[in-house]
Amino acid sequence: MTLFATGGCLCGAVRYDCSEPPLMTGACHCRDCQRNSGSAFATLMIFKKGSVAVSGDGVSRFSHTGGSGQSVERCFCSKCGSPVSAFYEVTPDFTVIFAGTIDDPSLVRPQWNIYTAGKQPWVELPPHVKSFAGGYGSE
Ligand SMILES: [Zn+2]
Ligand SMILES: [Zn+2]
Repeated sequence: MTLFATGGCLCGAVRYDCSEPPLMTGACHCRDCQRNSGSAFATLMIFKKGSVAVSGDGVSRFSHTGGSGQSVERCFCSKCGSPVSAFYEVTPDFTVIFAGTIDDPSLVRPQWNIYTAGKQPWVELPPHVKSFAGGYGSE
């Protein structure tokens, strides 16, 4: 099997393999991502579902209703708390990896910002990166 990238949580109890490059990479500034990441935004690598394999006995799951009104299932490490991946019911063909967990950060190349309506005022967005006030493709 070819391998695009590997990654894992802070303590190493949860690991993952990505067999293909991401379809897209970007930053989400919504409140859910701010809370879940403990930061101003989450950097998301969006992979075709099935190209990411998460392993380890530390995986915990938390489901909630996202801004779309549909469910979001988040995988995180039960030992160290790092958010690792997420599955959004609204985009069932994709698996999201939280890019801060990737072993080789040079593979992370954000192409857009979404939900910038919720962006923290001290975050400056680079002008060459597409920005959407709401979800991807919104005005
Ligand atoms: Zn961990
Ligand atoms: Zn978000």
